Amino acid sequence: MKNETEQNIINLKRRSMLKNSIFGLTAIAAASVIVPNAVYADDIPVLTEDDPMAMGLGYKLDTATVDATKQPKHTADQSCSNCALFTATTGGAGTCTIFTGKLVNEKAWCSAYAKKG
Ligand code: SF4
Repeated sequence: MKNETEQNIINLKRRSMLKNSIFGLTAIAAASVIVPNAVYADDIPVLTEDDPMAMGLGYKLDTATVDATKQPKHTADQSCSNCALFTATTGGAGTCTIFTGKLVNEKAWCSAYAKKG
C-alpha cells in the first residue's frame, strides 16, 4: 500500500499528463483548421487550359470566355466559385474534386459544373 505522499505524487503526475494531452489535442485541432489552406494553396500547381484533362472538359480560366456554340449548357452565372465541386483556398482560387492536385480559378468553368445546392 502506498503512503499519502506517494499517492499525491501519482495524482499530480496524472493531472499533469491529462492537462498536457488536452493542450496537445487542442493545438493539433487548431493547426488543422488554420494551416491547411495557406500551405495548400502555395504547394499546388494552377490548372491551365492546355492541360489534357482540362481541354477534355472545356475548362476556361474565365467563365466569360466560354464558347456558347461548343458549350450550349453553359450560362454566364456559372463559375467554379458556385460549383459544388469547388473548395475555396486563398487568392481567388480553390481545389476541385475533378482536377485533384491542381488549383482552379474561382472565375473558371468546365463542363462538369454542378450548381452548389
Ligand atoms: S467541376 Fe466545378 S469547380 Fe471543378 S473546374 Fe469545373 S466548374 Fe470548376
